[in-house]
Amino acid sequence: MSRLVHNPGDKDMLSSIDLADTYVNSLELRRCPFCGEEAEVYAGSMCGRIRVVVLCSKCKCSTPSEFTGHELIGGKDIMVYDAISAAAARWNRRQ
Ligand SMILES: [Zn+2]
Repeated sequence: MSRLVHNPGDKDMLSSIDLADTYVNSLELRRCPFCGEEAEVYAGSMCGRIRVVVLCSKCKCSTPSEFTGHELIGGKDIMVYDAISAAAARWNRRQ
């Protein structure tokens, strides 16, 4: 079971984040490769998009950012679930 953390000030994205919370709970995230602590999912709003990373709860090492919104290459609309699952996959692959 994994935990979703976010900035409480990000009111505009809270509805999608509430939905994402259940999804994050069902994710299996590997422990941190550096310190062995548990990982968590962070979501924050940034320029009208939601930025998602998986990061270590202790040493704060993290995956690169995944963003929601319209993809320039491929033209897909990235939803918050897509961003979370992409970040989780990167974390578990150690990329
Ligand atoms: Zn760590």
